[in-house]
Amino acid sequence: MKVTIWSETTVFLSLSCRVMSRLAVVCGGSRGIGRAVSRLLAERGCRLVVVSRGEDAARTAVAELHGADHSAFSCDVSKEEEVQKTFETIQRTCGNISYLVNAAGVNRDALLLRTKPQDMLSLLHTNLLGSMLTCRAALRSMLHTQGAAVVNIGSVVGLKGNAGQCVYSATKAGLEGFTRSLAKEVASRNIRVNLLAPGFIHTDMTAGLREEDGARSIPLARFGTPEEVAQAVLFLLESSYVTGQVLVVDGGLQLVL
Ligand code: NDP
Repeated sequence: MKVTIWSETTVFLSLSCRVMSRLAVVCGGSRGIGRAVSRLLAERGCRLVVVSRGEDAARTAVAELHGADHSAFSCDVSKEEEVQKTFETIQRTCGNISYLVNAAGVNRDALLLRTKPQDMLSLLHTNLLGSMLTCRAALRSMLHTQGAAVVNIGSVVGLKGNAGQCVYSATKAGLEGFTRSLAKEVASRNIRVNLLAPGFIHTDMTAGLREEDGARSIPLARFGTPEEVAQAVLFLLESSYVTGQVLVVDGGLQLVL
């Protein structure tokens, strides 16, 4: 008779084994949400490639990761040639990609009348084009791995809109259409693509906001943490029957928008 004793350790080990030594590329992994995602995936046994424009920041993020065999790459995701070269190098030196998380993003909050065209382009190029370029560059490599998955980081304002964030919201809404379409395109190759839409999360991006003001409108009455978003990203990466979906992680904010 075979007896299995389930303990927290057993559950943890079985979860770890599922993602054991998978290669995960996290764009925007040097800070905020991407950094928390990198930490969690490393804890679960993935090899990490952390990508950001700042090389030192990416290296520092890699240095704090659990385990060894992680890498840092400096790359501006809005630049086609840089993205192409970076992903070619990743595949050559680190192997095929199982997970891609697109967390690189910028904001330039302002009313539309005050938004400069160069800021519009910067938002579009980083938040929307950037994710398109990294997905395009990673897909061929992902075809060679079992259970490959992409998570794009959108935003609750991409679903609901927000005054003062017209262009930012548009980039995130565009990311939703892109995610659903790509999910359809690559489902037959068993690659899943989902969007995670956070609300207010404590990172450098929201450092200028006063939580007391913002949290009043949030049903859970507080901002979220990058670690809470990372848990949801892990869920989407591991959920083998979920694709083309939007998962909102916002403390209930969209219920009242
Ligand atoms: P942070 O500002 O804390 O981190 C952004 C990360 O993206 C950094 O690692 C940054 O590194 C990287 N990055 C920015 N531009 C580029 C680029 N062109 N190429 C490569 N890397 C880049 O932001 P958050 O962690 O808060 O945001 C992560 C994602 O979540 C973003 O897409 C954001 O829009 C989204 N989001 C955040 C919310 C929040 O409340 N914080 C709410 C909803 C959505 P570097 O500067 O060195 O390049």
